[in-house]
Amino acid sequence: MALTVDDLHVSYGGAVRALRGISLAVPDGAIAAVLGSNGAGKSTLLRAVSGALRSRGGRIDRGTVRLDDADLSRLDPAAIVRRGVAHVPEGRKIFGRLTVEENLRAGGLGNPSRAARAAARERVHELFPILAQRRTQRGGLLSGGEQQMLAIGRALMAGPRLLLLDEPSLGLAPKVIGQIGEVITEINRQGTSVLLIEQNATMALRVASEAFVLDVGTVSLSGSADELSRNDDVKRLYLGVR
Ligand code: ATP
Repeated sequence: MALTVDDLHVSYGGAVRALRGISLAVPDGAIAAVLGSNGAGKSTLLRAVSGALRSRGGRIDRGTVRLDDADLSRLDPAAIVRRGVAHVPEGRKIFGRLTVEENLRAGGLGNPSRAARAAARERVHELFPILAQRRTQRGGLLSGGEQQMLAIGRALMAGPRLLLLDEPSLGLAPKVIGQIGEVITEINRQGTSVLLIEQNATMALRVASEAFVLDVGTVSLSGSADELSRNDDVKRLYLGVR
């Protein structure tokens, strides 16, 4: 398993119990999707894995987050990136006043090897030729889809073996969502495991091999992406089938 989350409990400010004992695993080389309605705890799960929780006023109360056998739950975000986990947060959070190139460079800061950074930049430019073309343009001037590509590219600059994606399709046109889905498949084919949070269940279940449904801080359903696409509750709640 690339990632194993076991009995994870997370709260914010000691009061809001956002995750209430969730367990899930992402097999090495897989794409796992997490579905769930607003407030179910999807972003919280990714923050608990990447170490971004503390800066949001949250903390792990119980349970473990492991990458292989290493416990990530006490490490800071920079150490977690060095272990091979990169997080593309909700809302992209690119640096709008920096150029595309500077955004990518920022993503490579935690990657100690110059050769590895150069290889990562080449991979990013191949995956997203538009980022090579727009190298000197400010990130804030890119379209929504291009900004999402930049956010993913920036995360890949760290050379991760596990990529955490928080709602990459949010606010994008159907055609662009299709492109993002294809690029996630290609990134995975190149050897990076992916944990994908999505409101767009159609896209998520198309690209993923495993899937989980979060419901008020617990895992209410899990199985292969095929199984979940055939599940009546998933169809009704997330795939818009009546
Ligand atoms: P959404 O898609 O709306 O972001 P989500 O499934 O990602 O939903 P989370 O953002 O993880 O859900 O939120 C889970 C719960 O934790 C919600 O009740 C939310 O209000 C609460 N929460 C999230 N972030 C914080 C925070 N920084 N401080 C306090 N409570 C928070």
